[in-house]
Amino acid sequence: MDILNRREALALAAGLAATMALPGAARAQSVMTLGPRSLHVLSDGGFELPMSMVARQVPEAEIKALLAAEGMPTDVSRSVLNVTLLKDPDGWTIFDCGAGANFLPGSGKLAASLEAAGINKDEVKRVIFTHAHPDHLWGAIDDFDSDLFPNASYLIAGAEWDFWAAPDVYSKLPEDRHAFAAGAQRIFKAIGEKTKRIAAGQEVAPGILAVDTSGHTPGHLAFVVAGGGKQAMILGDALTHRAISFRHPEWRTGSDTDPDKGAATRKALLDRLVAEKLPFIGYHLPSPGLGHAVKEGSAYRFVAGAP
Ligand SMILES: [Zn+2]
Repeated sequence: MDILNRREALALAAGLAATMALPGAARAQSVMTLGPRSLHVLSDGGFELPMSMVARQVPEAEIKALLAAEGMPTDVSRSVLNVTLLKDPDGWTIFDCGAGANFLPGSGKLAASLEAAGINKDEVKRVIFTHAHPDHLWGAIDDFDSDLFPNASYLIAGAEWDFWAAPDVYSKLPEDRHAFAAGAQRIFKAIGEKTKRIAAGQEVAPGILAVDTSGHTPGHLAFVVAGGGKQAMILGDALTHRAISFRHPEWRTGSDTDPDKGAATRKALLDRLVAEKLPFIGYHLPSPGLGHAVKEGSAYRFVAGAP
């Protein structure tokens, strides 16, 4: 997601308060069991983004027609933030950390959601990042600059770490993304000693396989979680929008670092999700984010719930 300048953020916040009932701190929804383990989703809140960030190089009328046909607002894009937790007999693994206190108004509610759900942060043993965008990474540090999960180890793709940590990252990003890099470097500094770099194709923890879904960012990973003969994929931002990502995966978006690769990744991923009838949890898909994909002609459709 692109960061907004302060004025835009405040304007959005006012609109948000007026038009959107925030999905605040809620109890952890158990969305799926995988044998002895279970997947849960907690809300980090939600935010609104200008439509320009959702699709690029597509006529506005075409975008609005699609959204209207899907029964979605056509003026702004409202997005929820679904944080997935995996419960194992010996503790919790969490996928992404939410946005923390310093990103967009409406987000950063993960700590409150954990408390409301009665989940002890000390029992989170592993944090796995899909990528290093603010709404996934910045919540790793609390308001006092301490680790939100003091007993956790952190896992992130080496390619993702290397991109954002590089001193010359600023020269590779448009100016409105520079705050993303500064934020990533600040968090990396805080969690670096406890962070392990991982790569696509690896079983990064028992029954958790990393899948190359680069394009949204250079090292973006999704994760297949397996247990009890079943599987589900944690998508992160490989598919972000329930209408656009599925009906028009080929549309270039304003939030992908490499828009062409992002589009190719979405298409290949959707083919796999359909072929394997694989349920998934999307970070920005309708709460709690659990769904599956079906093929419709040359496009796809998001269907809530497991197949
Ligand atoms: Zn995101």
